[in-house]
Amino acid sequence: MLQQTTVASSPLKKQWLTATVREVIDETPRVRSLVLDVPSWPGHRAGQHVDVRLTAPDGYQAQRSYSIASAPAADMITLTVEMLPDGEVSSYLAGEARVGDRFELRGPIGGYFVWTPDLEGPLFLVGGGSGVVPLMAMLRERAANMMMLRERAAKGATQPARLLFSSRSYEDIIYRAELEQLAGRGDGLNVIHTLTRGAPAGWTGLSRRIDAMMLTEQGFAPDLMPRIFICGPTPLVETTAFTLRELGHSPKLIKTERFGPTGK
Ligand SMILES: Cc1cc2nc3c(=O)[nH]c(=O)nc-3n(C[C@H](O)[C@H](O)[C@H](O)COP(=O)(O)OP(=O)(O)OC[C@H]3O[C@@H](n4cnc5c(N)ncnc54)[C@H](O)[C@@H]3O)c2cc1C
Repeated sequence: MLQQTTVASSPLKKQWLTATVREVIDETPRVRSLVLDVPSWPGHRAGQHVDVRLTAPDGYQAQRSYSIASAPAADMITLTVEMLPDGEVSSYLAGEARVGDRFELRGPIGGYFVWTPDLEGPLFLVGGGSGVVPLMAMLRERAANMMMLRERAAKGATQPARLLFSSRSYEDIIYRAELEQLAGRGDGLNVIHTLTRGAPAGWTGLSRRIDAMMLTEQGFAPDLMPRIFICGPTPLVETTAFTLRELGHSPKLIKTERFGPTGK
């Protein structure tokens, strides 16, 4: 069981650690999760990320940021990576990486885009594509906390939480089965999917880009002061944050993470 620690979250303060791939999970046709064994991992909070560094035999290095998908209490660190066309690092992580492979990472990084169970108020998560990754860490942390609450005292405890998740197509929905399972626990979590590039026959869910009407109908009223976390491609994040402010949500309660290019 990894200890929860608070470490200065500046990347420069972090040493590079060696991660060994223990498991490879195909999440969708273009997205894979890597379960990593990272000895002396200092612990993390839900929402944080790592820097991954790949070194080629000739010494050439490439470095990118990846959110941590696993909950803080998990024994191993999980990253979930979407393969991008001509992507230098994602083509390795989401394509070639095999069990037993090793690469370097450092972290955890980022103290801003973090959710912990002691934060009060409803939880409203908005994700686009692989932007769901840090939000999944939050939902996994929340699920563990709800289990504990229910075991300890409050049998039927519920805490309102909603995930509004935008994916291109049904096949592209990352963590689909696990999200269904988490929403099926009856602990207050609702998962709402919207598909932006066509829906399968019989689909009864939403099928358009996230807009003001969707945020109003699927989100929480501003006076309930929900904690809002938005993550995904830059345009989605900026439009959603702007619209939620327009709808009356306090900017203090809106946290954003953009998955733009991070090449170094
Ligand atoms: C804090 C943070 C956390 C992140 N977490 C994750 C994560 O959990 N999972 C994940 O899959 N990605 C994540 N990313 C994005 C990741 O860091 C890389 O940008 C992505 O994997 C592409 O790297 P690459 O080397 O494969 O592509 P590159 O070789 O850098 O780029 C290939 C092509 O894709 C374009 N491109 C690069 N990055 C992106 C992007 N993010 N979106 C759209 N086009 C892009 C480039 O402009 C270029 O044309 C995160 C980014 C940040 C800032």
